[in-house]
Amino acid sequence: MEPLRPKTPENFFRATRYIGCATKPRACPDDEGGEVVFAGRSNTGKSSAINAICGHRGLARTSKTPGRTRAIHFFEVAPGRRIVDLPGYGYARVAAGVRQDWAVWITRYFETRLSLRGAVVVMDARRPLTTQDEQAVDYLRNLPLHVLLTKSDKLKRAEADAALREVRRALSGGAVSVQTFSTLKKQGLDEARTKLAGWLNTA
Ligand code: GDP
Repeated sequence: MEPLRPKTPENFFRATRYIGCATKPRACPDDEGGEVVFAGRSNTGKSSAINAICGHRGLARTSKTPGRTRAIHFFEVAPGRRIVDLPGYGYARVAAGVRQDWAVWITRYFETRLSLRGAVVVMDARRPLTTQDEQAVDYLRNLPLHVLLTKSDKLKRAEADAALREVRRALSGGAVSVQTFSTLKKQGLDEARTKLAGWLNTA
């Protein structure tokens, strides 16, 4: 596929639109081109990050109810280039049997999806690398990873820098990059856009 040549990282995402959700592999869009998944604990600011990166306030739904949805949501950045919003982890309210089914189908998605180019793992900058975050990183490690340390506006500059260093050190040794991010202060938007556009342009 021809690389897109936007003037700015922001333009690359401007026309992003929601194209639907899937709760089983057959319902996913055709597995062609390239896609980037977003994973993270519920309430870390994953939906807000997708909205900010794409410059659409209402694109991904920000939720007050953790673990509200078990569907995978797809957003088309350009033909054949997609952002994929995975359900937030932390499913205390979901029955064990449902959790099992969910795990099976998400696992199948990761094992079979050829268009996957990379994963964005969203963590709260104030408490990164929770057990669930580490499990997600381990699970996704065969993909290039980009970590967003969100809500950096809630930290002092020195604290945010320390969090960045800590996570970089903990996750060193692989295709992993880490940045701080704030939708509130619009901090780190272009860094995230540039990373994602690079991945999607290798489709
Ligand atoms: P999700 O469950 O991970 O998709 O999280 P949401 O995007 O729904 O955000 C959860 C809560 O965190 C909401 O109340 C957001 O307004 C808030 N939030 C998201 N990003 C930021 C940020 O960068 N800074 C601050 N201070 N709050 C944020």
